[in-house]
Amino acid sequence: MITVSVYDTKPYDRKYLEAGPHGGRIAWRFHDFRLGADTAPLAAPAPAVCIFVNDRADRAVLEALHRAGVRLLALRCAGFNNVDLAAARELGLAVVRVPAYSPHAVAEHTVALLLTLNRKIHRAYQRVREHNFALNGLVGFDICGRTVGIVGTGRIGRITAQIFRGFEARVIAYDPLPNSEWAAAHGITYADFDTLLAQSDILTLHLPLTPETNHLLNERTIRRMKPGAFLINTSRGKLIDTSALIAALKAGHLGGVALDVYEEEEGVFFEDLSAEVLPDDELSHLLTFPNVLITSHQAFLTHEALSEIARVTTENILRFDTGGGFLPGTVL
Ligand code: NAD
Repeated sequence: MITVSVYDTKPYDRKYLEAGPHGGRIAWRFHDFRLGADTAPLAAPAPAVCIFVNDRADRAVLEALHRAGVRLLALRCAGFNNVDLAAARELGLAVVRVPAYSPHAVAEHTVALLLTLNRKIHRAYQRVREHNFALNGLVGFDICGRTVGIVGTGRIGRITAQIFRGFEARVIAYDPLPNSEWAAAHGITYADFDTLLAQSDILTLHLPLTPETNHLLNERTIRRMKPGAFLINTSRGKLIDTSALIAALKAGHLGGVALDVYEEEEGVFFEDLSAEVLPDDELSHLLTFPNVLITSHQAFLTHEALSEIARVTTENILRFDTGGGFLPGTVL
């Protein structure tokens, strides 16, 4: 039996982890709070810790976990920008993740955001419930024939591109490691990033957050986007400079912005703050634009994705406990 401290848990995390294939060999200790310098010592006596996207695993936290006897950090997500991997290696802490739990979940949410924002479904839904059957202000555009720019053609970007091809859109893509065979098979062409900025009616981000991609969309690059373009980000909040985004929205340069992630989402997204004052002025400002749609990091939230996250995480923890190797492709 191995004890695992699970940080930042919600009811759906508990439900799926408890139902995972652990055969009673894992004692889950579910914590509501996130991992940080102050909460790291509370991992003890568990040798394994399970974290999510807004838990912080910087050097100081990893050192505190190590002092508490933790030897395995299992990320129940794909992105790992919140973990200091060099520090983990120095401390001999194994770090595993779930690289691809359901790229379809994220790709489908990306398209759902675009369709909602473009066809103003969220506004129409509210209107009709109040018996306002007028159509004024609800005009959208056909996706068919439009140019969609996919930044990053990894697992999620490729599926998103294929869905947009299903709408008969022209799809162009940028990736420093292009997959030409896949592109040719789906009628997609690679171009440089500047071409995507200049030509895309819809620009969607599917790349990891790294020091190089931080604020990839900034004052300079947003200005180069096609006037009236829609921007979608379901990857990581810090890919977009929020101040520059707000300035571009105020100037009327962008047609619409759909975000499932936000630069300062930590401590806000995943929480019910409906009875509280929002201290983040930029998020409050974004929420006032009629052409901005925000969901709180829910693109991954499907039955299939949660089941796969639980399966891979459970399997890796059991393998760690019995000294077997981790699942291929999951070690960082
Ligand atoms: P992946 O590793 O399969 O693909 C990422 C791609 O981005 C790779 O092809 C890589 O070459 C490319 N890339 C790297 N740097 C780039 C750059 N500067 N410009 C363009 N492309 C670049 O990753 P994935 O599984 O497709 O995930 C993509 C993103 O989605 C990640 O940031 C991940 O954190 C995020 N994500 C979000 C959610 C959510 O719920 N919102 C869920 C899962 C993943």
